[in-house]
Amino acid sequence: MIDSDRIPHALLLEGPAGIGKFALARAAVQYLHCTDRHNGDSCGECPSCIQHQSFNHIDTIYSFPILKSSGHEISDDYLAEWRDFLSRNPYMDFSVWQKMLGKPDGKPIIYVNESQEIIRKLSFTSHAASCKVVIMWLPEKMNVQCSNKLLKLIEEPLEGVKLLFVSNNPVEILPTIYSRLQRIELKRLSDIEVAGYLMDTESIDPTDAMAVAHLANGNLVEATKSLAANSESKQFLEMFQQLMRLAYQRKVGMLKKWSVDVAALGREQASRFCAYCHRQIRENFIANLKIAQLNYMNRYELSFSRNFAPFINERNVEQLATLFAQAREDLIANGNAKIIFFDVAVKVIMLLKR
Ligand SMILES: [Zn+2]
Repeated sequence: MIDSDRIPHALLLEGPAGIGKFALARAAVQYLHCTDRHNGDSCGECPSCIQHQSFNHIDTIYSFPILKSSGHEISDDYLAEWRDFLSRNPYMDFSVWQKMLGKPDGKPIIYVNESQEIIRKLSFTSHAASCKVVIMWLPEKMNVQCSNKLLKLIEEPLEGVKLLFVSNNPVEILPTIYSRLQRIELKRLSDIEVAGYLMDTESIDPTDAMAVAHLANGNLVEATKSLAANSESKQFLEMFQQLMRLAYQRKVGMLKKWSVDVAALGREQASRFCAYCHRQIRENFIANLKIAQLNYMNRYELSFSRNFAPFINERNVEQLATLFAQAREDLIANGNAKIIFFDVAVKVIMLLKR
């Protein structure tokens, strides 16, 4: 549609949650605005693409459900949280968004102020030569007043303006709006697609990936969540705890045994273990900042973190993170695993020293 310049002025991407509809919408709008498209893709390098990649494109308006509080009345009042959410949650986990708004059981809504703000913004002329796009996440969360106000914009399209809606629950959209949208229905992902995603992003083995995918119903958000409780990560957490406890107590002999045990995992699993440790260092550092909504630990990790997090601080966080990243690289480059992990253990002793 973009290539042939036949984009409807109001388009809805509808389908189940966790399949990448919003990521597709973002990619499409980046493509639409790209000044150097080739091979059916955006270039990723032009000024417009750069702006899109930082969720900061001048002619793109993001609109999404929020919780109203004083000083927070429209989407723009939550832009910092929104950008953080997008950069870390490309598959749009709604429960994470609720947490980021400060109330895990709050019910975010798109209020009437939002339609007014959209109309106000669209009344300015376009800065670039490109068209203006409103991307609305979850139009089903618009209240009736908001829907009615926006209806006019859908019925009487403005020159050079496109409205793109992304919905998990289209039956909840006001029928007068829904009936006026051109719709594209996206299907759930297959188990094989979900498993492939898990193998790429979480680097787990194919059998575990298929087992998790099977239960996730094509939903990448659910798949990633249930993975957190998966057995490998439990084993990794135990080994990570052992390392930190033994290093704190300076039990070099035991650490030697620990490094032999970790090396016995085999190169692939051991390098996943390094990635796991790297993530735990980050999470524990963040735990110190007391910003719960930025923490992504499962309950077992959280429980260890309560006592451990204070040991990760500005003085050692970078060195610890680098240590595990380097160990992973050395493993992949065929280094001797026992030596690599013993070396890691000795350095952790030094880095945990107060
Ligand atoms: Zn570009």
